[in-house]
Amino acid sequence: MRTVGLALVLASLMAGNAMAQPKWAIVVHGGAGVIARAHLTPEQEAAYRAAMTRVIQAGGEVLAGGGSALDAIETAIGLLEDDPLFNSGRGAVFTAEGRNELDASIMDGATLKAGAVAGVTRTRHPISLARAVMEKSPHVMLMGAGADTFSHETGLEQVEPAYFYTERRWRSLEQFLTQNNLPIPARPEGAAAPDAAAGLAHDEGKYGTVGVVALDQAGHVAAGTSTGGTTGKRWGRVGDSPIIGAGNYASDASCAVSATGTGEYFIRLTVAREVCALVEHRGLSLQAAADEVIQQKLTALGGDGGVIAVAPDGQMAWSYNTSGMYRARLADGEPLSVGIYKDEP
Ligand code: ASP
Repeated sequence: MRTVGLALVLASLMAGNAMAQPKWAIVVHGGAGVIARAHLTPEQEAAYRAAMTRVIQAGGEVLAGGGSALDAIETAIGLLEDDPLFNSGRGAVFTAEGRNELDASIMDGATLKAGAVAGVTRTRHPISLARAVMEKSPHVMLMGAGADTFSHETGLEQVEPAYFYTERRWRSLEQFLTQNNLPIPARPEGAAAPDAAAGLAHDEGKYGTVGVVALDQAGHVAAGTSTGGTTGKRWGRVGDSPIIGAGNYASDASCAVSATGTGEYFIRLTVAREVCALVEHRGLSLQAAADEVIQQKLTALGGDGGVIAVAPDGQMAWSYNTSGMYRARLADGEPLSVGIYKDEP
């Protein structure tokens, strides 16, 4: 009896420890898709792991230093937007017309304020533009030429459209257009020569969106998402990434979520808000809520992709129904975890 009693005390002490709430936490994704071991060379795998590590550590430093979740998100996504490995900012996929039209959104769980842009073409960091919409305009969402003008007027860094060009995304576009019997447009003026880093990039299908969710030391959560959308998109198509409640959502009352995958399904299921609603109204754990939406609802509808999430009490989660998702998580007092394939924790 005494042994059982002691074991129970020990178990509850250990559980208490394991459940100690981290002061801050951050989860990052670099897109989901067809990412299997057989598809990546060791060099490609190492490049993605190194990029995810560098980015999450930069975001983690902001949080460890007492910075806000919004600042950590803008820092981490800014780095991902500069990295040609990912489908956001430089390295974004092309539209059927051979353009880079970028979407991004950000949401502050403390105030439920949000900002989003769709189809912007000249802002180096679309996530910063989404934040400017949230903080410096009376609106939540701006699109196209008007959003480009707002960006310029706000003083954000502007680049020539060809800045976003990468050779491998152009090749993906050519392949997509050929398969779909569509004409191949001329390369954008000033398109850069292939660079070494782009040579390491892996084609994860049509995805590769980036997203970050964070919990800061003040107990607030926030979410950010940035993408070039899907390869060969036409007719001004906009996916879920800039749609609050679909590809991005944050509320201190429940959680913060960023999504990646075929946006049309995420919009129809309001995936990000749905995960938070299950936490808020049904009291599900963050992991159970993410799994219910991705493994049950999204899968039943025929959609593909995944989410990352964080809650104000420090719970972190990810769930995806594709063969892989570039992902990483880090929290105060917890070791860094980076994953690509399904069989990793
Ligand atoms: N969700 C994005 C979109 O549909 C694509 C992605 O996640 O890679 O635009």
